Amino acid sequence: MNEIHRIDLPRIVLVGRGVLESLGEICRELGIERALVVTGRKTYKIAGARALEILGEGGLRAEATYVSEADLGTVERVRGEAAAMGANAVVGVGGGRTIDVAKLSAARNGMFFISVPTTASHDGIASSSASVKGLGRPYSVRARAPIAVVADSRIIAESPYRFTASGCGDVISKAVAVRDWRLAHEVKGEYYGEYAASLALMSSSLVMRSARQIRDRLEAGFRTLLEALVSCGVAMSIAGSSRPCSGSAHLFSHTLDMIAPRPALHGEQCGVGAIMMAKLHGLDWRAIKESLRVIGAPTTAKELGMDRDTIVEALVKAGEIRPGRYTILNRVNLTAEAAGALAEECGVV
Ligand SMILES: [Zn+2]
Repeated sequence: MNEIHRIDLPRIVLVGRGVLESLGEICRELGIERALVVTGRKTYKIAGARALEILGEGGLRAEATYVSEADLGTVERVRGEAAAMGANAVVGVGGGRTIDVAKLSAARNGMFFISVPTTASHDGIASSSASVKGLGRPYSVRARAPIAVVADSRIIAESPYRFTASGCGDVISKAVAVRDWRLAHEVKGEYYGEYAASLALMSSSLVMRSARQIRDRLEAGFRTLLEALVSCGVAMSIAGSSRPCSGSAHLFSHTLDMIAPRPALHGEQCGVGAIMMAKLHGLDWRAIKESLRVIGAPTTAKELGMDRDTIVEALVKAGEIRPGRYTILNRVNLTAEAAGALAEECGVV
């Protein structure tokens, strides 16, 4: 084996209470002089305004721009603004959409990207991929890993708990993603990296084990979740693809995003998908379901706000939406009848 395997990782990761206050120092350390802060209207009040102040106090020139949608038009606008002010970095302060727009804008401009999540709803906070509308596919595309991640657990603790529970669903679903990856390796000869796989799997087990601490909103629980989300991003960087973190449960979630009248949160859907996909893999699906229940994440169609037909349709279609991503769904090939039975056996419908 003499293939070159390139791994891009965040250089600085700060997790803990009040770490937002270190944003200026981090930027100085990285040699950043001008930064465009990408934020949402709500997240501006929660952390964006403070981020701007801190950057200003640190002697940086910082400007803010607002995003409400994660689409290509917004990415282009942000790119233009970052270029116009001569920014060296794009700082994403917000939830999933904000982070995705900031990440892709930075990547396309060849600028540093700094991730400052205000929720722990999914693993995009430290990953190199972004999910935006207008690219003609429901899953994420390669952008670039953040140079720094500043995950302030105080801010996460104050965000609506539903986002935190969703992040847990995303992380717990890695148990299934790793199995799908191994299957693709065995059946299709796909590259499989033990290290990246172990990291994703460990994140999943740690979050399952910390279910009660997370439910009780303990600092230790938030930290475990944030570290797990960062580790998942790192696992994808090491693997060079989303393989260790995105398998059949994710395909199920992406399909729901396309067909459900009102999709739930990404991680909520991944969690419910993970219960059923774990059963297909012969994994301990009950343990997955129980930890989601303890955390307070959805475990049923009803809790996702969906009906039986939507779940069955998503199960049937999930194996086809991403050609080239071999998972258990390609091996089992669910009919509508089998899909319905699976969802019933797992108590999802
Ligand atoms: Zn995910």
